[in-house]
Amino acid sequence: DNLISQIAAGEVVERPSAVVKELLENALDAGATQITVRLDQGGVKRIAITDNGRGIAPEQLPLAVARHATSKIASLTDLENVATLGFRGEALASIASVSQFTLTSRTADAAHASQIENGVVTPTSGAQGTTVDVQELYFNTPARRKFLKTEQTEFGHCADVVRRIALARPDVTFTLMHNGKTVDHWNLANIDKRSAQIMGNDFAEARLPVEQSAGPLRLHGFAGLPTASKGRPDAQFFYVNGRFVRDKLLTHAVRAAYQDVLHGDRYPSYVLALQLDPSLVDVNVHPSKIEVRFRDSRAVHQFVFHAVQAALSQTSA
Ligand code: ADP
Ligand code: MG
Repeated sequence: DNLISQIAAGEVVERPSAVVKELLENALDAGATQITVRLDQGGVKRIAITDNGRGIAPEQLPLAVARHATSKIASLTDLENVATLGFRGEALASIASVSQFTLTSRTADAAHASQIENGVVTPTSGAQGTTVDVQELYFNTPARRKFLKTEQTEFGHCADVVRRIALARPDVTFTLMHNGKTVDHWNLANIDKRSAQIMGNDFAEARLPVEQSAGPLRLHGFAGLPTASKGRPDAQFFYVNGRFVRDKLLTHAVRAAYQDVLHGDRYPSYVLALQLDPSLVDVNVHPSKIEVRFRDSRAVHQFVFHAVQAALSQTSA
């Protein structure tokens, strides 16, 4: 079964940033309001994520790290209406199979924390919440380890993941540390403040609110004015039902809306959140879940295009 887990791991955790994403989603699913991400050497040496969420009871610990063990789906029909971020129940098992893995957790009513390592549960100390400590990623799958890029590149991917999630969740405090130094710290904020923190003041000072609804579709957020973009290719944040996505259809719709105001090959900057009924979108196209499939992609494209265009037309007035 460990071999199966290692193969599955190749799908779920292709690099340190994928581990960071899975662990952050778990922390948010557990209702955390404070999350600390500690990375060493781009996450290859160590990824340790601590949250103050509801924790896992000691008797549940072996289950949490077992394959296909999820506490998040009660029936098959639930698959259609997944509200929580994770639902496949194999992230922890996969990560554990390719790393030196310990999980420490404490629920509100437990007398002490408990830790699981190599299937063995022992009592330990610690506050309410969970710490997942992943060391020496791919130590036992050297072929995969060989594909990792430099420390700075891997760290950059990890930091991108933290930023995307922090932008979507201003109601949560995030701290990001690398090699013992605090790189980012975002305190509890609202979306106005959080987007200024993450996108920078240029964006904060030159952005237009987007707010449109049509039937089951709602788009809200901010569209940066051309002056706010500075041609940065990394200032495009699009969320579908709370998940960061990078989707051709959506990117195209936004670009088309910018066509008259943005010239040359500059990039628009934006933070946009699309909300729609979960039955109208499939977010499980790929384990990395960055692409989505809409039931009516034409309608979504039209809607996003018009909503952004309407926001941008406020400038020419
Ligand atoms: P999934 O998130 O798809 O259910 P995972 O392998 O990511 O599968 O996690 C397995 C289970 O472990 C989760 O369903 C949850 O019950 C528990 N779990 C994982 N991380 C945390 C956490 N940070 N806080 C509380 N429970 C957690
Ligand atoms: Mg998960």
